[in-house]
Amino acid sequence: MPKNQSQFQKGLSLPEFLRNYGTEEQCKQAVFKLKWKDGFICSECGSTSYCELKARPVYQCNRCHFQTTLLAKTIFEYSKLPLTTWFLGIYLVTQSKNSISALSLKRHLGVSYNAAWRLKHKLMQVMKEEDDKQPLEHAVQLDDCYVGGKQKGKRGRGAKGKTSVVAAVSIDENQHPVHMRLSVVSGFKKQEIKKWAVAHLKQGVHIISDGLACFKGLETASFKHECTVKMGQELESYEATFQWLDTMIGNVKNSIRGTFHAIRREHVPRYLGEFCFRFNHRFKLDELFNKLVSSATKSPPMPYRLLKLAEARW
Ligand SMILES: [Zn+2]
Repeated sequence: MPKNQSQFQKGLSLPEFLRNYGTEEQCKQAVFKLKWKDGFICSECGSTSYCELKARPVYQCNRCHFQTTLLAKTIFEYSKLPLTTWFLGIYLVTQSKNSISALSLKRHLGVSYNAAWRLKHKLMQVMKEEDDKQPLEHAVQLDDCYVGGKQKGKRGRGAKGKTSVVAAVSIDENQHPVHMRLSVVSGFKKQEIKKWAVAHLKQGVHIISDGLACFKGLETASFKHECTVKMGQELESYEATFQWLDTMIGNVKNSIRGTFHAIRREHVPRYLGEFCFRFNHRFKLDELFNKLVSSATKSPPMPYRLLKLAEARW
């Protein structure tokens, strides 16, 4: 049997992780290098001359006396957890096959559930923002999908209590999936989908959908659009066309059911963001840890009050 390319790749081993990031000083050095890759530079005056205060962990510019800290303006700011806990959290999140719940993180990290929840949600926010930066290219399959809500009752379009999600995947010339994007939308209305497309699709992409009315709105937003209708004799070609998208929607639903059980509606965008980030880096497991540490260092802080709010959709 051929080996599954993504399952057999080399990740970051635990001994290797502990060798490189086992101490607070090693983690601080890693953040310093990511934040100031050519050495410290004052954000106010651009000077590279600085000193470290003895009383507090503060860097002070020697020219304008502006003071800053290593963790200022990073996702690690306002957290009481040591960097070693953050780094171990990032290791566990990136090296697990199907993500890891806040409850498992609590046990592995030896912190309270609330601390684990905050760490996990901040990391998911970083993954979502990082992934959303890259617009989808080439040919893009588009479909509507519905996540969460009660299992019983009406399913699919219009089902009560479910969250509406645009599911999109870009495919290469061999019909293999390249990038996936799952975004919560307020509903499947033309204007909403048009705004989503402008934010997430490269100009000139070729869109393939089942012809849901709102997707037709994309033709006016300078995207090429091809409808594949899900009826009668065309059913077979529809199934072949949307095979990847259907598989991935199934995977995300299983992952949500299996790992997280119930997700609060307002947090769905972050869970989808993590799922896509993981999928889009599926052949680069050994780089995933560094990628998330780097993105976390470059992401603005997210205080708890913002974390609790309903997430901006896209
Ligand atoms: Zn300065």
